[in-house]
Amino acid sequence: MIDTIYVEQLAASHPRVRVLLARHSRALVVPIGAYSEVFNRGHQSFRLQKRKPSLILAAKRGNLVLQAPYGIGGDRNFYFSHVLNCLYDCRYCFLQGMYRSAHYVLFVNYEDFQEAILKTADLSPGEQVYFFSGYDGDSLALESLTGFAEAFLPFFAGNPGLVLELRTKSVAIRPLLAREAFPNCVVAFSFTPEAFSKPLEHGVPPIEQRIAAAAKLAERGWRIGLRFDPLLYAPGFEPLYRELFERVFTSIPPDSIHSVGFGAFRLPRDYFTRMARLYPEERLFASPLEERSGMVSYVSAVEEEMMGFCRERLREHIPDRQLFAY
Ligand code: SF4
Repeated sequence: MIDTIYVEQLAASHPRVRVLLARHSRALVVPIGAYSEVFNRGHQSFRLQKRKPSLILAAKRGNLVLQAPYGIGGDRNFYFSHVLNCLYDCRYCFLQGMYRSAHYVLFVNYEDFQEAILKTADLSPGEQVYFFSGYDGDSLALESLTGFAEAFLPFFAGNPGLVLELRTKSVAIRPLLAREAFPNCVVAFSFTPEAFSKPLEHGVPPIEQRIAAAAKLAERGWRIGLRFDPLLYAPGFEPLYRELFERVFTSIPPDSIHSVGFGAFRLPRDYFTRMARLYPEERLFASPLEERSGMVSYVSAVEEEMMGFCRERLREHIPDRQLFAY
């Protein structure tokens, strides 16, 4: 339930804004000049805003598509963010370190994103270029608000040289089930073992439901990505990950798996400092961590042990060519 909607001047006449305002007719609507007047200003409390986030409707300007720092098999990788912030509240999420504000920012000018995607890809014949959509939020969790998948699935379906990754912890798969699967879309589900998920991933649907959603999509022909990122450490982590991998790989047929990604917990130093201040009592931030080249991560020995263990277990389920370490 959204109580307050801020509307940027530049976005006010966009049809998507009109639809959203009509759907939330009880919300207080506040016109603003630019979304930065409300979002991410100093002296805001992420924790307080997270209890009741407002919605900010804005038009994205500047660089709409950016180079992605990782890939899943393609040579050219980019990301774009139609939304900033997330419905869920994972303790390890870097968004709380990156933003001072927990409000949702929705960039409504999807047509400009699509134009920028085509321009960025500038495809050569036979080439495929990857576009990641879940970088500054969850790709599907706010679907009922954003209509993102509904708008972008037909666009990517009509451009087979562009590969879309939807990254999610949600089970909001209705827009996918409502249409034919197409090969240049990867629906990537993120998992951590239940022992971490329950205390750390607030609001996220239970693992069982997410596995069921992925299995259902696989059955309908969608290509599934599996993301075990971040890998989280606790003494005796091995059986937790072994069991998680078993559960996931016995439910999702191998031939529907596009790629598997994994990476140990890591955060830029400044984000980590801000998050540790937000949750001084959080044990996650008191793990055996160290700073290396501006990033805070597990001490090398722990990181290597976890990455090595998980890599070997994952290789029992998936060929190396589909396995990506972040
Ligand atoms: S689901 Fe992803 S984006 Fe959302 S809070 Fe959790 S880690 Fe952050």
